[in-house]
Amino acid sequence: IIISVMIVFWFVSLGVSIYLSQWSNRVLYKAYEKQKSFVENASHELRTPLAILQNRLELLFQHPNASIIDESENISESLNEVRNMRILTSNLLNLAKRDEGLKVKLTYVDKSFFETIFENYQMLAENRGKTFTSSVELNDNKIEIDESLIKQVLTILFDNAIKYTGDDGEIHIDIKEKNGNLIMRVFDNGEGITPDDREKIFDRFYRVDKARTRAKGGFGLGLSLAKQIIDHLHGKIQVSSNTPKGSIFTVRLKV
Ligand code: ADP
Repeated sequence: IIISVMIVFWFVSLGVSIYLSQWSNRVLYKAYEKQKSFVENASHELRTPLAILQNRLELLFQHPNASIIDESENISESLNEVRNMRILTSNLLNLAKRDEGLKVKLTYVDKSFFETIFENYQMLAENRGKTFTSSVELNDNKIEIDESLIKQVLTILFDNAIKYTGDDGEIHIDIKEKNGNLIMRVFDNGEGITPDDREKIFDRFYRVDKARTRAKGGFGLGLSLAKQIIDHLHGKIQVSSNTPKGSIFTVRLKV
């Protein structure tokens, strides 16, 4: 009996160790694949502004006697690409830092935390000729959140609402506390997002229309950052369509 128990035990432990090693291999492989595609995407994103920059600089060299004014278009386009690369590299650095682990610092805030942020949004929206409205309803005056992370998420959603609405752009942010949850909703009347794309827009580097969003200065990183933050806070972020047109981004968090 002892020998057969030992044999069974030996087989079971062999099975468990094989399973564990296969599982850890799979986890490592997945992490490797994720890292690889991140580097590939990042290199690809940098290639476009670098190619444009090279092209513009070569054009400058073809007209050695031209004045700065004559070449102002080439110079300003080159500067634009340099700016794009700066934004991209700082986004990439942010993502890399966050992959190492986000630190959460909770503090109690009241309505005025959101109202101060919204005052700035109001100005930004007006500068771009768009309308911005907001409403904040908190039951017990104070809620516990990470101010910096929540502000980052709201700013990403607000920036997108500004980018992806036309001249008649109307943006509304609604903050509510309900049954221990903080619900933040960003409404816009922009171009909207198809059901197919709704699944993908939270992936790194995903853009619905690469050429068009690139012209608007987008790299497809904002929403993946927002999702990374909200996942870390054990919350949910979703998108649905607005009526008659546009999108509604909804964030739900336990507070
Ligand atoms: P980007 O920097 O390109 O805006 P995001 O990750 O923030 O990157 O968004 C990914 C893509 O989702 C965008 O390129 C755009 O196509 C789409 N998108 C995001 N927000 C909106 C919105 N409010 N309305 C329509 N499309 C949007």
